[in-house]
Amino acid sequence: MDTTIDVEQGINRITFARTDEQRELVAVANAFARERLRPAADAMQRAIAEHGFGAWQVPDGLLAEAAAAGLLTYAIPEPHGSGLDAVTSAMLMEELTWGDPGLASLFGSGQLFAGGLLAAGDGLDPAVRDHWLAKVCAPEGAYAAIAFSEPHAGSDLANIRTRAERDGGSWVLTGEKTWITGAMPGTSALLVFARTGEDGAGGISAFIVPGDAEGVSYQKLDLLGLRTSYTGQIFLDGVRVPSDHVVGGVDAGFLVAMKFFAHSRPQVAASALGIARAAFEHAVEYANEREAFGKPIMTRQGVSFLLADMGMKIEAARALVWRSCDTAERGEDVGLLGSYAKAFASDVAMQVTTDAVQVLGGAGLSTDHPVERWMRDAKVLQIVEGTNQVQRLIASRYYSQGMVAVP
Ligand SMILES: Cc1cc2nc3c(=O)[nH]c(=O)nc-3n(C[C@H](O)[C@H](O)[C@H](O)COP(=O)(O)OP(=O)(O)OC[C@H]3O[C@@H](n4cnc5c(N)ncnc54)[C@H](O)[C@@H]3O)c2cc1C
Repeated sequence: MDTTIDVEQGINRITFARTDEQRELVAVANAFARERLRPAADAMQRAIAEHGFGAWQVPDGLLAEAAAAGLLTYAIPEPHGSGLDAVTSAMLMEELTWGDPGLASLFGSGQLFAGGLLAAGDGLDPAVRDHWLAKVCAPEGAYAAIAFSEPHAGSDLANIRTRAERDGGSWVLTGEKTWITGAMPGTSALLVFARTGEDGAGGISAFIVPGDAEGVSYQKLDLLGLRTSYTGQIFLDGVRVPSDHVVGGVDAGFLVAMKFFAHSRPQVAASALGIARAAFEHAVEYANEREAFGKPIMTRQGVSFLLADMGMKIEAARALVWRSCDTAERGEDVGLLGSYAKAFASDVAMQVTTDAVQVLGGAGLSTDHPVERWMRDAKVLQIVEGTNQVQRLIASRYYSQGMVAVP
């Protein structure tokens, strides 16, 4: 997004046109999404449907291909990644999720982990940071995970129970994490939030844990949506990490988490756009072809107006997503806009995918079409990264401080 101040006219002009460079990057991501992610996801879904969740497997070489195309690390600063700005990153995220929400989510796990490290700013030894950023930016691609949630504490993150005890020059972690994207055997690194001090937000620290550290084990979860992603539990049984692997300082983990979410929520919102757009396009195509009572159903206002509402909602959501990314990019407080964007875009994705199923009628419920799958994927986005109720809670906290307008 190009924002310029026209001093002569005294107005702030905002243009939403993509730059030439952004168009080229989007074209690369779209081609990969269309030619590689969609067929891979279809094959994975078929295998899971036929043989159960044990048949989950990302096709050989796909991760490395995504890495080679620059689609795993575009938001990570140079020299490790491409260092793209937040708005351009959101554009790529939309395309990849348009290809397949589950694979896009899993392939984004390295960037999530990196986002946690970067949220610590000076609170992490640069040598340690660079070592782990290089790991997740490996040329062959890498999975990673950021682990806040526990069986009894998701929204209530300040209430986590995983413990880290100091032992000489290291920390020893014990506990359980759940619903974690990329928590799988072979994952390169975990960022684990654990209790180091008093109850509540002030007693939490974040730790870099090698994915294959002794005492770490994983269990895959079988969920309604994002079934091509890998969501798992992490069991930490006396896992030892060096003291310089604390990210952001001892007892400062909650702050790291909040900074992380401020930057990740607009990107999650961008992924919701990808799902919504995929379902919308599919529904438009279907409505133009499907005939009922002797005419394409697109000629029926009951259908075409529904589609018009879907298109409008997506465009409105995209404007909000780009605006929140632009705000984050300028280093301004993006808490309120990020929560708006995350909740609005994922609610739009839920509405649009549900309406897409309606447009397809019975076919919409069948696995012959992907819209039922996208509807299940959209539901996940209303829950992850802080549920949409939590986003409204965050907004209300701004309001109670008298902040109702975004500068
Ligand atoms: C596919 C998937 C991937 C995920 N990936 C990750 C990951 O990589 N890392 C990670 O740490 N976590 C991850 N999560 C977990 C996710 O962040 C949590 O599920 C989410 O934060 C909600 O927590 P919870 O499930 O414990 O629900 P709860 O916190 O138990 O909430 C249950 C319900 O109560 C509502 N609620 C709770 N508190 C309030 C309140 N104060 N006001 C109003 N309503 C409230 C919630 O909105 C929700 O509707 C993932 C989840 C899924 C499904």
